Amino acid sequence: MANAYEVMRIRLDTELSQTIAAIEQAKRSVGTVELDQSSVGRVSRIDAFQQQELAKVLQERLNVRKRKLEAALNRVELGAYGLCCACQCDVDPARLDADPAAVFCSVCVVGQTNP
Ligand SMILES: [Zn+2]
Repeated sequence: MANAYEVMRIRLDTELSQTIAAIEQAKRSVGTVELDQSSVGRVSRIDAFQQQELAKVLQERLNVRKRKLEAALNRVELGAYGLCCACQCDVDPARLDADPAAVFCSVCVVGQTNP
């Protein structure tokens, strides 16, 4: 089991680094749009605004993902990784393989708003 934990920890760590890098990139793109706004026409400003909104939505999603990954890494540390947060049963390994940060088993995930 220690080995399986280690494999998942590495996967979670890797995705966390990638997510943090993507957040930094999204932050930069929001900043760039703001700088460009004074020098572009109306249509471009609308485009820039939409891009900025998209970057914000993306950033929020990435932040949610980051928190999920951090929580999963925490569960690895605590030895509670792979246990459903609702019913404490083992989460299906295929679910964890598809999403290493999965929190709920396939039964409890039904009805969760943020699986
Ligand atoms: Zn469950």
